[in-house]
Amino acid sequence: MANTLSFTFIALLIITTATRIWLGRRHIAYVQAHRKEVPAAFSSTISLDAHQKAADYSSAKTRLVISEASAQAILLALLTIGGGLQLIDNFWREMLATQEIARGALVIVSAMIVSSLVDIPFDYYKTFTVDEKFGFNKMTRSMFFSDMVKHAIVGVLLGAPILFAALWLMQGAGEYWWFYLWVVWSVFNLLMLAVYPTFIAPMFNKFTPLQDESLKQRIEALLVKCGFKSQGLYVMDGSARSSHGNAYFTGFGASKRVVFFDTLLERLNPHEIEAVLAHELGHFRHHHVIKRIALMFFVSFIGLALLGWLMNQDWFYAGLGITQTSDYMALLLFLLVSPVFLFLLRPFMASYSRKNEFEADDYAAKHANAKYLVEALVKLYRDNASTLTPDPLHSAFYDSHPPASIRISKLAAYTS
Ligand SMILES: [Zn+2]
Repeated sequence: MANTLSFTFIALLIITTATRIWLGRRHIAYVQAHRKEVPAAFSSTISLDAHQKAADYSSAKTRLVISEASAQAILLALLTIGGGLQLIDNFWREMLATQEIARGALVIVSAMIVSSLVDIPFDYYKTFTVDEKFGFNKMTRSMFFSDMVKHAIVGVLLGAPILFAALWLMQGAGEYWWFYLWVVWSVFNLLMLAVYPTFIAPMFNKFTPLQDESLKQRIEALLVKCGFKSQGLYVMDGSARSSHGNAYFTGFGASKRVVFFDTLLERLNPHEIEAVLAHELGHFRHHHVIKRIALMFFVSFIGLALLGWLMNQDWFYAGLGITQTSDYMALLLFLLVSPVFLFLLRPFMASYSRKNEFEADDYAAKHANAKYLVEALVKLYRDNASTLTPDPLHSAFYDSHPPASIRISKLAAYTS
C-alpha cells in the first residue's frame, strides 16, 4: 500500500507539473501567434502597441509560472519521498524530545518556511523584473521585504491559535477530533471574513472614505436601486504597490463595504465605475460569495474526515517518505500533498467561476448600462495589459474570468 501511494503520488506530481508546463507553453505560443494584429472586435479601442504589450507581459508571466511549477514540484518531491520532512522532524525531535504539540508546531512552521523559500525569489523577480519592465511595479525593495515580514507576523498571529487547536484536538479529542476541528476551522474562517476588511487589510493599505460627492451620490443611488446596504464607500491606495486597477465588495454584516482602487477611479469615468460596481453587486445578489464559502466548508469537511482516517494508516506516512508517525506529520503531509490531488479539479472550479462572472455581468447589464461595462472592461484589459487572445485550453483550465472577447460580445448583445 505504501508503494502504491508513493507511485501514485509521484505519477500525479509528474502529470500535474507536465500539464502546467504544457498549458503554459501552449498559451505563450498562442499569444505570440496573435501578437501581430489586434482582434477585430477591439481594433477601434485597443492600439497595436497596447495589444503587443499585453502579449509580451502575458508571455513573461507565463514563463515565470512554468519555472515556478517545476521548482515547486522538485521541492515537494524532496520534502516527501526525498526524506526532507523526516530530516526536519529528526532535528526537532532532538531539540524537543517531549511536548509533542510544541514540536509539531515547530516542524510544521519549519516546513512551511522551507516551501515558501522557493516562492520568494519568483515573487521578487515578478515584481522587480517583469512588472517593473512593463511599468506596473510601484513597490520599493524595502516595501517588498517589510510586506513579507508583516505577512509572516500576521500569519503567525492568526495561524498559531488554529495550529495549536488542531494539534491539541488531534492528540486528545478522540475519534471525532476532525469534526471538532472542522467546527473550529469554520468559525475561524467566518471570523476572519468579518475582521479582515476592518482590521487586517488596513495593515497593508490605506483606506479613505470616498470624497467625490457626485460619484458618491451616483453609487449610493445604484446601491439603493439594487437594494443594498453598505457600511461605507472606500478608496484604497492600490497605486502604492501596483498600477493594476480593481474594485471589490467585501465583508459581512456590519463590516460590509465597497472598496475602489484609487487607480480604478483615476481611469474610469463615473458611468463606467457605476457599471463595474453593478457587476460586483451582481456577485452578491447571486450569493456567489456565500456559495463559495459553503463549498469551502464542504471541501474542508471531506478533507478533514479523510485526514481522520489517513492518520491511522501506516502506509500514508511510509508512502510519503516518513519513518516515524505522528499526528502533526499526518497534518503536514496532508497540507502539502493534497493540492497535487486537487489540481485535477481546477478546470471545474474555473468553469464554475466563469459562470458566476457571466451572471454578474448579466446583473450589471440589467441594473446599469452594459455599454459602460464594456468600455470599462476594455480600459481595464488595456491598462492591466491582459491578453485579449488567451490560448482557449489554457483559459478553460485556469481562468476565473471568461476571455474578453466572449464576455464583451455577450454584453454587447444587451446594448444592440
Ligand atoms: Zn466578477
